[in-house]
Amino acid sequence: MERIAIIGMGTSGMAVAAAYAKETNPGDYTIDCYDSKDSFGKGYPYRDDSQEIILNLKSGKISYDYQDNEDLINWHKEKGLTVNEYTSRSTFGEYTLDRLNETIDKIKANKIYERISSVQYLPETKTWEIRTESGSNIEYDRVHLCCGELGQHDVYKLGGSPGYYNEVYPCELKLADIESDQSVCIIGAGLTAVDVAIYLLTKRNVQKLYMFSRTNMVPTVRVDPVQINIKHINLDIVESIIKKGNGIIKFEEFDELFEKELVYQNINYTEFLKNHMQGGIEGLKRNIAEPDDLAVVQALLPPLNMVFNRVWDSMTNEDRFNFRSKYHPFMCLNRSPLPQPSAEILIDAVEVGRLKFIEGVDFVEYGCGVFDIIKKSTDTDEVLAQSDLVVNATGLDMYMTDIEKQNPLLAQMLNKRYIAIDKYGGLILRPEDQTSISPRYGSLENLHIHGVLASGVQYRNNSTMMIQTMAHKLIKKLYA
Ligand SMILES: Cc1cc2nc3c(=O)[nH]c(=O)nc-3n(C[C@H](O)[C@H](O)[C@H](O)COP(=O)(O)OP(=O)(O)OC[C@H]3O[C@@H](n4cnc5c(N)ncnc54)[C@H](O)[C@@H]3O)c2cc1C
Repeated sequence: MERIAIIGMGTSGMAVAAAYAKETNPGDYTIDCYDSKDSFGKGYPYRDDSQEIILNLKSGKISYDYQDNEDLINWHKEKGLTVNEYTSRSTFGEYTLDRLNETIDKIKANKIYERISSVQYLPETKTWEIRTESGSNIEYDRVHLCCGELGQHDVYKLGGSPGYYNEVYPCELKLADIESDQSVCIIGAGLTAVDVAIYLLTKRNVQKLYMFSRTNMVPTVRVDPVQINIKHINLDIVESIIKKGNGIIKFEEFDELFEKELVYQNINYTEFLKNHMQGGIEGLKRNIAEPDDLAVVQALLPPLNMVFNRVWDSMTNEDRFNFRSKYHPFMCLNRSPLPQPSAEILIDAVEVGRLKFIEGVDFVEYGCGVFDIIKKSTDTDEVLAQSDLVVNATGLDMYMTDIEKQNPLLAQMLNKRYIAIDKYGGLILRPEDQTSISPRYGSLENLHIHGVLASGVQYRNNSTMMIQTMAHKLIKKLYA
């Protein structure tokens, strides 16, 4: 009987378990599911936290099962709870835990509230020995690596400075001691930074908040949805180009197809970038004031996720560079839009002078009880602002700079060369079956990489729905 381990029971671990429940018979294997109790069935973004921190998709558009998006609403009804337009991430975590427990019963898996401290490959038997934090060693035939908790990179080396916060989730735990009269500078402008800003403005009543990133680009605002019909680009068309190109699609070929689709959808790409991706609060205001073309882009991108994924897989390195140069910011800022209520809180805070975006920051330094936010100059450096506290909200460090500290299990696996870091972040894997490409052993057929850890190879997998889709595809392939 095949012995299977799932390491990490957040979004991707749950997706793997749910896929086994859909595609296999429980009697054919044993599955052990590992994670700490507070994260089991939730994962990093969905642990207990403030209700103000919400999902970026409306209720009815996100669920435990990507094939049934009504399920989150049904769960609210089962529990007698009111469904909000946007569910809090913490409530989403409670829901996924409930559904995971049902899956675990169905596949007769074992719930083990422990983290894994090391993994050892046994080349003679091609099996894996896993060591839990309490010291048990257990052997498995197949391992699903779903432990994509990567921590944040301390870009300005501020760790250890009094008043510096390098971790932010759960905000209610990590940021709870911030007082309303303290000035705070948030490093970052993405979804993590927005979460922190919303929490500090609404729950800590902070009166003086700064934010900055390299570009000050905030994700666009989710606007009222529209229905569109996609005409010129789909997976079949892309597959036939890839076949003709002996496994390769040129950037120009993709660009031509995508441009044609944009024209068909009445989107002028250059105008769109100028209007909707100007960054900061002005950008958010424009998104809300002129939502028509934004709504079309927001309807266009999600159904094309698998297309982008396949194209990314099949481009030369140079063309990947061209693809990223032209489309990456457009994809990133429009793929996980900001809920409008969150955008409105930020806009109000700017208008009453509680929040300010700072332009042109080069570095941040601590000294004499304050943080200086600095622009470099050949003469004297210019201090753009000062704050009592600094919160790092740069998001998960996909390049694993501080991995020994952040995730010792991954560090150990990297050191043993079972896994390797991809040029675009996450780990190197074979796209067809998500197996790790080990620099030492080659393709490891029974070590599968999922979720955040697969995000350099699986373009645009940073959503629960994509992670669930990919896990299901893999399990179907393995057990068909
Ligand atoms: C802040 C944030 C907000 C997001 N919001 C949304 C959203 O609103 N909508 C959306 O669709 N997507 C959202 N995403 C994207 C999506 O939720 C994530 O990409 C997804 O959670 C990643 O899944 P994962 O399984 O790779 O990691 P996680 O879900 O974080 O799970 C990793 C798990 O591994 C466990 N683990 C780590 N080390 C070990 C170990 N040694 N042994 C055992 N277990 C271990 C951790 O405890 C954790 O539970 C968000 C992502 C982030 C970071």
